[in-house]
Amino acid sequence: MDLEVPDATEDVSCPLCGATAGSVVGSRGRFDMPVRNLCCAGCATVYITPRPSAAAMSEYYRSTYRKHYGAVGYVGPDGKSVTPGEPGFEATLLQWHSQQADNALTLGSAAAGATVLEIGCRHGKTLALMRERRGIVPFGIEPGESEAQQARDAGIDCFTGALEAFDPGERRFDQVQWFHVLEHVHDPLGALLKLRSLLKPGGTMLIEVPNVYQPYGLLEENFFQNVHLVSYSPNTLPALVKRAGFDVTRVVDAGSLFVVARVSDAAAEQLPLPFATKLLDAPEQDADWVAVRLQSYANLTKLQYLLQQRGSSPELTAALVRTVALPSFVTHLVETCASFVEQLVARGQLDQAVAVTLAVASGPHPTELRQEFRIFAERLGAPPEALAATG
Ligand SMILES: [Zn+2]
Repeated sequence: MDLEVPDATEDVSCPLCGATAGSVVGSRGRFDMPVRNLCCAGCATVYITPRPSAAAMSEYYRSTYRKHYGAVGYVGPDGKSVTPGEPGFEATLLQWHSQQADNALTLGSAAAGATVLEIGCRHGKTLALMRERRGIVPFGIEPGESEAQQARDAGIDCFTGALEAFDPGERRFDQVQWFHVLEHVHDPLGALLKLRSLLKPGGTMLIEVPNVYQPYGLLEENFFQNVHLVSYSPNTLPALVKRAGFDVTRVVDAGSLFVVARVSDAAAEQLPLPFATKLLDAPEQDADWVAVRLQSYANLTKLQYLLQQRGSSPELTAALVRTVALPSFVTHLVETCASFVEQLVARGQLDQAVAVTLAVASGPHPTELRQEFRIFAERLGAPPEALAATG
């Protein structure tokens, strides 16, 4: 693939706490692009530095982005990605937007007649479905000219351009939503402050971003991307939202990360609030906590890939046993190890299956998870003395 990417000319400080120190948790991104992700020593936000300027990225989105990411499709209910032109694409796309509309109506608080602004509304499908289902009054902001036109063709009032260029006049909204936009933004705090000014007092904001605690695919080959300038977590994004003058009402740590927030009573001139550790719900999830789990994630996904490519082997199992001796993101650890064990059992390699379950049961993992794997090991026939040794 043609890899013309803008030069990373700007060294930046952490978008949440302003620190500059941190540990490198990735040096490549999707399509083998050079993408350096740092995990902040001050607050554990994962972000790209150095990075291209906002002007260079804006030109990249205009000229090259679709060439790189255009074939990336929508994920259907069976978990398979369908790209434009493939059979079932239209149905998958509609299904995806239907889910977004459901999320926006369930997590948000828009009643019939409420004004709802979507940043990056694309062709307006999510807003159109919300109007159909709840009778909201939609408004979109969309930088892509042809997509903005499609939204208008669907009867949705739509501003063509970036959020920064949008002048609302007297217009204020009951709800603002943005799905998979904030991770692309150069100045997220500035964008959140602008959004707050577009909301009515007590108005609701709904954000969805990729979740760095639940990455997807291989870490550097898929999850980290040159266009995802910040990789937020359920710990860091709420803190950033609070700094911009919102009260966080809900955090959903699903595959994606959703944050729902209301405009706080703080006076606009007091904003942004200075960073303070007390804004973090889980300050113990610091830079080391995150970095070691990202490393485990990268190792586990690679081992899973090798298992699929080459089948099982004692070496692969030994590497897995070493990896699960370190802390991991729990959901991913369970999924990976359960699938490994299942395949080892199917191949009749019970000793290796037992070794994996015992390793999880003895690892630095939550007590419940260790207990679950101890039972798992027992069922597979682990000897009592080995079970006792897991503590
Ligand atoms: Zn920080």
